[in-house]
Amino acid sequence: MIRVRLVRLLGMFLAAVVLAGLCGFAKAPADRDVLFQSSVLDALLAGVYDGEFTVGELKKHGDFGLGTFNAVDGEMIVVDGVVYQAKAGGKVLVAEDAAKTPWAAVTWFEADRIQKLGEVSGLADLGAKVDAALPTRNLFFAIRIDGRFKMVKTRSIRPQKRPYRPLAEVVKDQVVVLFEDLDGTLVGLRCPPFVKGSNVPGYHWHFISADRKQGGHVLDCRFTGLVAKIDLIDGYFLLLPGQEDYLRLDLSGDKAGELGRVEGNPAK
Ligand code: ZN
Repeated sequence: MIRVRLVRLLGMFLAAVVLAGLCGFAKAPADRDVLFQSSVLDALLAGVYDGEFTVGELKKHGDFGLGTFNAVDGEMIVVDGVVYQAKAGGKVLVAEDAAKTPWAAVTWFEADRIQKLGEVSGLADLGAKVDAALPTRNLFFAIRIDGRFKMVKTRSIRPQKRPYRPLAEVVKDQVVVLFEDLDGTLVGLRCPPFVKGSNVPGYHWHFISADRKQGGHVLDCRFTGLVAKIDLIDGYFLLLPGQEDYLRLDLSGDKAGELGRVEGNPAK
């Protein structure tokens, strides 16, 4: 009976709507909800600044994310499928496919939830406000915020020469840039606590201006009236390097203290 079938179809549709409502997040297909990561942060902290993984390869695994480039030559911002390089001083270039990265993490960005943020007074406040929209701390999230920023303080690192010093030493020479009243995009990742040693537990933000000409690793920011687009990520793929300096590295120590010095705001 056509009518019975229609009623049954309607019932299934309603059940799907209710399920999606209960879950809160309308999930994208599983294989797109993967954070793809090349190398581990502890290797970068130890001074493994040259990877074999190319920007061209990275783009096959996501259109949104962040990282750095060989010789830690600036900060990587991946947005809308384009890989940008924010050099020391904040100037941004489009990275060539042949460029290489010692550490990067990308995903296919599809917003599952939109969160109004109201007034954001700093990086900790931003984290707390995005946290309020999250159903858990134990998954990965990609977060995108577009609009006008009252203030964004960024840093980038000058390209290093061998023999490489540890990153906690190198960031003492980082170049800090203050942007005011500028349109742009915050590209953020939030990782669960268990990634310690591999990625940054909690939030990690990079910024790029709307004209895609300026940006860097975010140390602080202030803005009002913007929304966070949030992508839930429940997969994690880690590709490890094969080159000698990585294979010979002693990764047994805890580098959490060094990570705090590298990620944080030196002016605080
Ligand atoms: Zn960064």
